[in-house]
Amino acid sequence: MKNFICPRCHEALQKDENDLCSCSCGYRQNYSVIISQQQDIGSSVPTLSNTLLNSYKAVSNEMSSCNLDRTYFRASSAKNDLQIKVGFFKENMVPSYRDLYESVEMFDIETTAIRNQVALSLSHIAKMILKEYYGPLRVKDPNIALLSEITDLSQYKHPLDFEKVDYGEIDQIATVSLTNTVGGAMGQSLENAYDSGNLHRTMELTTRLYENSEDKEARKELNQVGVEIAADLLVNAVSSATEAIGQNMDAISEIREVDQQMDQQILEMNHHAEKLSIQMQQLNKYRKLYAKERSTLDYCVVHGLMPQFQRLLESEEYVSYKSGRRTLDVCLERMELEREIFNTPVTLSHWVGLLPGSMRFRYVWRKKTRNIDPPSRDKYVQCLKTLKQKFPRSMSRYILREEQEYQEYLSFEKAHRPSIESLESHQGLKMSMKDFTKVLRIIKNKIDQ
Ligand SMILES: [Zn+2]
Repeated sequence: MKNFICPRCHEALQKDENDLCSCSCGYRQNYSVIISQQQDIGSSVPTLSNTLLNSYKAVSNEMSSCNLDRTYFRASSAKNDLQIKVGFFKENMVPSYRDLYESVEMFDIETTAIRNQVALSLSHIAKMILKEYYGPLRVKDPNIALLSEITDLSQYKHPLDFEKVDYGEIDQIATVSLTNTVGGAMGQSLENAYDSGNLHRTMELTTRLYENSEDKEARKELNQVGVEIAADLLVNAVSSATEAIGQNMDAISEIREVDQQMDQQILEMNHHAEKLSIQMQQLNKYRKLYAKERSTLDYCVVHGLMPQFQRLLESEEYVSYKSGRRTLDVCLERMELEREIFNTPVTLSHWVGLLPGSMRFRYVWRKKTRNIDPPSRDKYVQCLKTLKQKFPRSMSRYILREEQEYQEYLSFEKAHRPSIESLESHQGLKMSMKDFTKVLRIIKNKIDQ
C-alpha cells in the first residue's frame, strides 16, 4: 500500500484485510475513499524546463564562432569582425540571457507566493483554533504555545534568495561605440591599397620593410605578392603613410581591448547562467515541496479538522454564543489592524515634531494608515464603519479604547465560555486539537526548510 497519511494527525495509515484504513488516533476510512482523496496530493506540479537554459547555452557556444582572428593587418577588418561580434551579442546572447533570467525570476516569485500562501493558511487555521476552541481565557497549555508560534508570519515577508544580475552592465558593453574607438585612425591611401589583393601578408611585409629597409627576404616576397601593390605600399610607407601605419596599429589594439572586455562580460554571463541553472533545480524542488504541502494541508483541513470542528461551530449553543460576540469580534479585528498600523514605519519631516502632542499623533496615524496594505486599510475602514468609530484622537485614547474593549471581551468570555466548554462537541475535540496542531507543525517545518 502506498503511504497514505491520516488527515487528523499526519501519521501513516494502516490497512487491514477488510480494506479498512485506520490510525492510532482513532481515524478510520475505507481504502477506496482514501485513494480517491489522496491521489491528487503533490501531483502535476509545474516545473521550470531546461528549454531556455539550453537555448542560452547554444547561443553562447555560437558566440565563439564570432571570435576575432589572431592577427589583423587592417584595422578596418578587425573593426568589421568586432561589429559582427557585438551585433550577435546584442541580438542573440543578451535577449537569450534575459529570457532565461526573467523566467527563473518569475518562477521564484510564484514559488515564494505558494510558500507564503501555505504559511498564511497555517496561521489562519492556528488563529481559528486558538480563538474558537481555546478562547482568550485559556489556561497554560503547551499546545497553545505551539499554535501561537504558527500564527507568526514575520519570517515570510522576503522572497527566496535570488542573486540579481545587473542588466545595466550587459547593455553598456553591448552598445560600446566602435566609431569613437577606431574612427579616423586609418589612412585612406593605405585602406584603398589593402582592398585590392593579398593584404594581410602585404601589410606584414611592408611593416618589416618599414622597420628595416635592408630586409631582403621581405622585399623579395613582397615583389612576389604583387609589384604594383607593393610599390604603392612602399611609396606610402616610406613617405606620407608613416603616421597612418602607426595609427592602424593603435586602432587594432583598441579593438582588441574592447573585444577583451566583451569576452569578460560573456564569461560573467555564462557564470551567472550556471548559477541560474542551479537555482532552477532548487526552485523545482521547492515548488514540488510547497505544492505538496499545500495539498496536504487542504486535505487535512477538509477531511481531518473540519468534520469534527464543524460539529462544535454549528451547534445551536455555539451559534448563539458567536452571534453575541459579533461586535466584540469586529473590535478585536480592528485592534489587530491598529497594531499593524502602529508598527508601520513612516518618514516624517522635522516640522511634525513641532506639532502639539495629540495633533502630531493624528497626523502620524493618518500617514501610517495610508502606508499599510490596501486590503488591510479597507478592512480597517470597514471595521470603524461597523463599530461607528473614528481614528483614535490621541495616544492615551487609543490605549484606553483598546483596554476597555479587551476587558469587555474578557467579561463576555467569562460569562459564556464555560457553557461552551462543557458541550460534548467541544470536549470530544480535545485530542483532535493536539493531533491537528501536530499536523500544522509538520507542514510548517517542511515549508521552513
Ligand atoms: Zn491519525
